[in-house]
Parts: sequence; structure tokens; C-alpha cells
Amino acid sequence: MKKCDVVVVGGSAAGITAALTARRHYPYRTVTLIRKEEKVLIPCGIPYIFGTVGGTDKNLIPDGVLSDNGINLVINEVSSINCKEKTLLLSSGETTSYNKLVLATGSEPLKLSIPGLDKKNVFFVKKDIHYLKSLLKRLGSVRNVVVLGGGFIGVEFADEFKKKGMNVTIVEMLPHCLMLAFEEDLCKEAEKKLTSRGVNIITGTKIEEILGEDTVTAVRLSDGRELKADIVLVGVGVKPNTNLAEEAGLDVNRGGVVVDSTMQTSDESIFACGDCTTKRSFITDKPSGLRLASIAAIEARIAGTNLFKIQRNNPGVVGVFSTAIGDLVLATAGMTEKTAKEEGFEVSCGYAEAPDRHPGGMPGMNQMKVKLVFNKVTQEILGGQAVGGPSAGEVVNTISACIQNRMKADNIAVFQIGTHPAVTASPIAYPMVNAAEMANIMMK
Ligand SMILES: Cc1cc2nc3c(=O)[nH]c(=O)nc-3n(C[C@H](O)[C@H](O)[C@H](O)COP(=O)(O)OP(=O)(O)OC[C@H]3O[C@@H](n4cnc5c(N)ncnc54)[C@H](O)[C@@H]3O)c2cc1C
Repeated sequence: MKKCDVVVVGGSAAGITAALTARRHYPYRTVTLIRKEEKVLIPCGIPYIFGTVGGTDKNLIPDGVLSDNGINLVINEVSSINCKEKTLLLSSGETTSYNKLVLATGSEPLKLSIPGLDKKNVFFVKKDIHYLKSLLKRLGSVRNVVVLGGGFIGVEFADEFKKKGMNVTIVEMLPHCLMLAFEEDLCKEAEKKLTSRGVNIITGTKIEEILGEDTVTAVRLSDGRELKADIVLVGVGVKPNTNLAEEAGLDVNRGGVVVDSTMQTSDESIFACGDCTTKRSFITDKPSGLRLASIAAIEARIAGTNLFKIQRNNPGVVGVFSTAIGDLVLATAGMTEKTAKEEGFEVSCGYAEAPDRHPGGMPGMNQMKVKLVFNKVTQEILGGQAVGGPSAGEVVNTISACIQNRMKADNIAVFQIGTHPAVTASPIAYPMVNAAEMANIMMK
């Protein structure tokens, strides 16, 4: 039997970050990372394989990040965990002992119950190089592609597929694409951009059946229409990989492997992080279904630090992310006005718009719009959105810092920002600060 000190199962955002964090905090411990796949894809880069990046091999996480930091890499599948003996059985038949174990087994595409999903040329968003290579190959010879789901993954895939010149249609059951993450006006702006780039959009409509003999030829929509389809890409969310934990007797529920705020599972020698674990909202403390690489990495930093001494707690998921359609960047943190109201908050919102350079004639200028959502009772920020050019992504990260520090509109209105003509909006018009000022005045 191979004896290991810290073992991490999973080689993606959560696994790598947990291994690196364990290494940094406990330099005298040996750290071993076990993963199934020979090469690991950058999961968030998967849509770009089909257009911008141009292939799976250009979207890999280099193994140097492990070897350069003294982390042992084992390519194998963990078949079972014996929590009592603190050992792992690998699919090769070998066993490995551990002192502390981190589960970072991730997620897989959600299975829908639409008839015909098993037909040839229906693809799911799997983080699997060989599978994605076969999709890339098929795309070369087809005309009509239907993307099931207009969330950020569906939208990113559709925009990339379009670059290959195909007839691409997104079918989304909600009234707008991106509606789970953004305010309606931003969703409309995103749809306008997608349409201008040649992507067809059908919203408020479900795909009820995938048609064809063995291979998909069309989809039947809930309004009775049929759409020709040579390929269907299903991009509608994920389910946590919990089999290993469940079979080992760890507490598991529909949200994933159950962890406390220190990322410890029901076994004190086993921690878990990333898509495979349960999550709670930072704002409401209710269970959260968000699954993001940024969340996985933060949880992994907490788990890796706490392995031999509890030092960090997870405050819950804020939910921060961005997406881009061509030169239009949409970014969000925390709650939208709609979700805040649905949660019963009395809200007050502030809006501001300005060029993200000054003067506006500076090269690379994009108009930026910011909306901030506040709890009218406490005046604390609940969420914010930014839309504009690339700078919107970092503005929303600043908004996330405000949310995590429960800042009030009055504090954000005097937030100390740094500005420069070639890099930021002007200090007079800085949209995040001005949006807070507008909300502050309204709440007085
Ligand atoms: C198309 C797409 C785009 C995305 N874009 C973004 C984005 O822009 N921003 C963002 O924040 N998030 C994005 N996400 C979400 C993000 O990819 C996930 O949240 C992230 O991959 C979660 O990382 P993870 O390490 O928890 O799990 P995973 O990435 O699922 O990795 C799990 C790892 O565990 C290994 N494993 C599982 N079981 C075993 C076993 N028994 N033995 C050995 N190894 C095992 C797997 O092989 C894999 O290495 C995107 C997701 C997709 C699919």
C-alpha cells in the first residue's frame, strides 16, 4: 500500500487549488493529487474551443502548476473510500492511505427527461477532451445547430458555434436568455447583441422532443413548431458527483456532499470543495445551487487551509460572474433587483452610466452602465451588475468586495477609487460610486 499524507481527489479548479493551498500552509506534509483524466481542460474555456481558441489542446491546465509546487500527480480513478481505515482503492487495484483527504470530484451535466436525448449528435457539456473533440469534428460537416438553454453556457456556445458559419438557434424556456443571472434590460441587451451576430433566439419555449431515427434531424418545440437540427447541444446546468462520498457513508444530499462552514464533511479527516459540495448563500444563508470555478477555488482555499488546524470559515456564496458576447461584457454579483424582491427584501436601486475612460475619446473606451441593489432597511448592498467593455468584469469584482463587507450606500459613495484616463472612468463620473450616491439619496 502506498502511504500518503494529504490526498486530493480531483484535478480541476477545486482539486488543484486545494492541493496548492495545502502545500503552502503545510510545507512539511506530502500532497498527492489523484485525477481520472490524462489532461485537464480549463472548464470555463470549453465554449471557446469551438471558435476563438480553436481546439481542445489549446485549452488545458498545465501540469507544471502541480510539479513546480512539489505535488505528486497520480492519474487513476478512485473507486472507493474506506473511512475507517483511511484508505482509497484505485481502479488499477492499488490502495493508498491518507491522513487527510479532500474530495473535489466536481459535477456532470444534468440529465433532462426530454424524449430523444439519447440520439446521435445530441451533445452535452462534458468536461471530457475526447468527447469534445468528437463534437468539434462533427461540427465541421453540419448546417443547423440547436442550443438547448440560454444560460451563460448556452449563450457562449451559440456565439462560438456561429463563428464557424452555422445556422445556430438558442431555445430557452424563460422569457429571456441569461435571465437567472441578470436584470431583464441587460438580458434584452445581450439578446440584441447575439441577434446582431447572427444567432437566432427562441425564448419562452421548451424543446419537447428530439426528432429523428438514430440521429437527430429536428427538435419539436412546445408551440408545435419543428426546427431542423443536425446537432443539439444541451447546456442546462450540472449535478454534483457524489457517488464516491455516498458509498463511503458520508452525508450527502441533493445539493452535494454535505460540508460545514470549514468545508469539513461528516468525517473529520475528509474535506470537500467545489461543484461536488453543498452551498449556502452569503446573503440569505439558504441553500444555493450556484456552481462556478471561482466558488470552487475559494472553497478549496478554505479546505486546504483547514486540513490540520481549522483557520478559515466559508461565509457563503455571493455569486459573482461575467460573460462576454463579442465586445459586450455583462457581469453580476449577488442579487438582482428581481431576486432580492423575491426573497422579501425591500430594495432601493441606484443607476449610473459613464465612459470607462476619460476623456471618452481615449482608445479602448466602452460605455459602462452600473446598477446597484440595496436593502432599503439596512442600506446594505445586496447586489450589482455592470455592463460595458472588459472593465465590467473587474468592476463587478469590486462590487463583490462591497457585498462581502456588507457596505452601505453611503460608504460606497465615498469609496476610494484610483483613476487614470487610459484605464478607468473619471473620478467625477465613476459609475459604481455614482450609482451608490443615487441610491443613498433615494433612501434618505
Ligand atoms: C462550459 C462551461 C463554462 C463555464 N464557465 C465558467 C466561468 O466562466 N466562470 C466560472 O466561475 N465558472 C464557469 N464554469 C463552471 C466551472 O467550470 C465549474 O464550477 C468548475 O469546473 C468546478 O470545478 P471542480 O474542480 O469543483 O469540478 P470539475 O471541474 O467537475 O472537476 C472534477 C475533477 O474530479 C475528477 N474526478 C471525479 N471523480 C473522480 C474519481 N473518482 N477519481 C479521480 N478523479 C475524479 C475529474 O476527473 C476532474 O478532474 C463553467 C462550466 C462549464 C461547463
